[in-house]
Amino acid sequence: MSLAFRLGAFFLVALALLLGGFSVALYLLARAQLRQHLDERLANVQDALASAAEIEPDAIEWRPALQRSMDLAPAGEAPISWAAFDEHGNLLDRSGAADFSQALRALPQGGRVRRSLRLGDDRWRVAVHHLRPAQSPGERATGRRRAGPRHGESSVSVHASLTLVTGAREVIMESALVRVGFTLAGLSTLLWFLAAAAGLFVGRRVLSPVTRMASTAASMTANDRTQRLPSPGTRDELEVLADSFNGLLGRLHEALERQERFTGDASHQLRTPLTALISEIELARRRDRPPEEYRRVLDSILGDAVRLRQIVESLLFLARSDAESERPALESVELSLWLRDHLCHWENHPRAGDLHCETLEESPAWVKIHPPLLSQLVDNLLDNACKYSNPGTPVVIRLVHEPGAVALSVEDQGMGIEPLDLPHLFDPFFRSARARLRGTTGSGLGLSVVQRIAQTFGGRVTAESELGSGSRFVVHIPTIPSAMPAPSAV
Ligand code: ADP
Repeated sequence: MSLAFRLGAFFLVALALLLGGFSVALYLLARAQLRQHLDERLANVQDALASAAEIEPDAIEWRPALQRSMDLAPAGEAPISWAAFDEHGNLLDRSGAADFSQALRALPQGGRVRRSLRLGDDRWRVAVHHLRPAQSPGERATGRRRAGPRHGESSVSVHASLTLVTGAREVIMESALVRVGFTLAGLSTLLWFLAAAAGLFVGRRVLSPVTRMASTAASMTANDRTQRLPSPGTRDELEVLADSFNGLLGRLHEALERQERFTGDASHQLRTPLTALISEIELARRRDRPPEEYRRVLDSILGDAVRLRQIVESLLFLARSDAESERPALESVELSLWLRDHLCHWENHPRAGDLHCETLEESPAWVKIHPPLLSQLVDNLLDNACKYSNPGTPVVIRLVHEPGAVALSVEDQGMGIEPLDLPHLFDPFFRSARARLRGTTGSGLGLSVVQRIAQTFGGRVTAESELGSGSRFVVHIPTIPSAMPAPSAV
């Protein structure tokens, strides 16, 4: 079931309930109004009849001729019939043929009463009004007739009490109500269908970008890396969604390309020493050779194998640090002590005499590191400094305090780096053209590993260089408060 359909169905059901409720309320209001209006008319006629009947202190005089002359049915409204009864329930007078004696029996005596009743075949709205003389019943003379009528009067009868009944058939009010009902139902249905059509149109229009995005996403293939979702240009949540999704696609494609480049470079880097290794073995096997020659070949094979192992180890480290979300367990270490201790491993290196270490004698620098990883970082930087500078030139390892961090730098006075190469130094397998031309061995993974290790410690690495003058690599590692236990870890 589509989203547009579900949304539309929800609002249409809500609208149907609203329109239904509104129509019923209007219908009930109209019915109450019409009934009130009819009741007012019945009461008016009763008042007119009552004012025409003269209420004496001891009796009520009834003059039929006066009442008959009243206009009791304005145009378009239900005609009102009336009847007058004496205190014994005898009919004194009435308009038309309406028989209200049944209503008189059915309705309670005294005051004004209004009811809807079935009289004969029709439903009637009936109002009853009891008139009494001003004095008590004992003082009244009942049933007497005045001696003679006044001028213009027919016979006038005198009674102890008088009951005036007015009524109108409800059929006219009911047909008006039926009209109101049909009009409301028709209007509501029309409104509902208009809203349904408009809702369907607007819903489809509003959601059409989603449909377009979905069909584009469905047609995307892994090979087509330039395709993106169409932006609806509506400056709303849908545009944000499309932009975010396109951003994600861009990042995924970048990661995929990096991965592919990485795999290609890795295969290339592994193939070169392997090819050299195989051809050396094949060459050695062609004929019998003296033992010194075999030793030389074996030494060369060992060199290639060591290179291969370094490459594989670096690749494994990079792959693992990509996949693992957890950091290795870090230890608190005082960096000056640790560095001096670590440089002991370099005592037998051919460039050992060129290495100068400037550590922080007075103020210790406590950091949280993983000592084997920091060893690898420092070794990679020192190895590069020695590789890309001439023997006899100094290589300086320096520790400097920075706000909230300590900077460990390795500086050489070697060949330097082209400014254009600087941004790519930390990309896996990057090797400068000058380094290749110079014939310096390397895999282009050393600095990537350095960067990854620095990030593992919550730090970063930067490179500065001047072509022909030398390079400086600085690793910034966050420091921790110095109130630490004695540097037993070193
Ligand atoms: P590798 O040294 O094995 O080639 P690295 O990742 O360690 O790989 O270094 C990448 C590239 O950065 C090197 O090929 C070289 O061009 C450049 N580079 C690194 N360190 C230095 C340095 N100290 N002086 C000059 N160039 C350097």
